[in-house]
Amino acid sequence: MKITQHEDSAVAYHAVDPQELTRVLDSGVDHVGNPVDSFTDREGGWPLRCCLTDSRPGDEIAIIAFSPFGWTSPYRETGPVVVHTRDCPGHDGLFPTQFEDRDQIVRAFGDADGRVNTQIYDQHRFVRAGDGLVRAIDQILTDPRVREVHLHNVIAQCFSFAATRADR
Ligand SMILES: [Zn+2]
Repeated sequence: MKITQHEDSAVAYHAVDPQELTRVLDSGVDHVGNPVDSFTDREGGWPLRCCLTDSRPGDEIAIIAFSPFGWTSPYRETGPVVVHTRDCPGHDGLFPTQFEDRDQIVRAFGDADGRVNTQIYDQHRFVRAGDGLVRAIDQILTDPRVREVHLHNVIAQCFSFAATRADR
């Protein structure tokens, strides 16, 4: 997973891993074996997980099954994400501000041995739109048991992005 540090933030935000995404797109097969079916976006507004922006009309995109986990465990999930299939500008490591206006589930993952999260269920949160998502992420990541958080949409349950402490 790409780690980008910023002097003004103790938290690094992560889109889906660009190297793994490139591998998937080059292979033409997603993480559960579906062919990557790229199409030209006519309307715009798809929530992209490669650069954490919303798509614009004319973008080449695909909906693929992708696991945003850099490790193996029973908690390793695979789900649908929308990504650019070409000309992705990449992600800058900053908080994607449009998520402040979207209800999100924050899931915490622990450190070291297997990064199993059963001991830190108390750090999982439901953060409503406008209720301070950045602050919630920062608070959860101050718990030394937490190594990483994953954010998901509440209704569709799609992976949104991940966050880690920039100094770890
Ligand atoms: Zn992109």
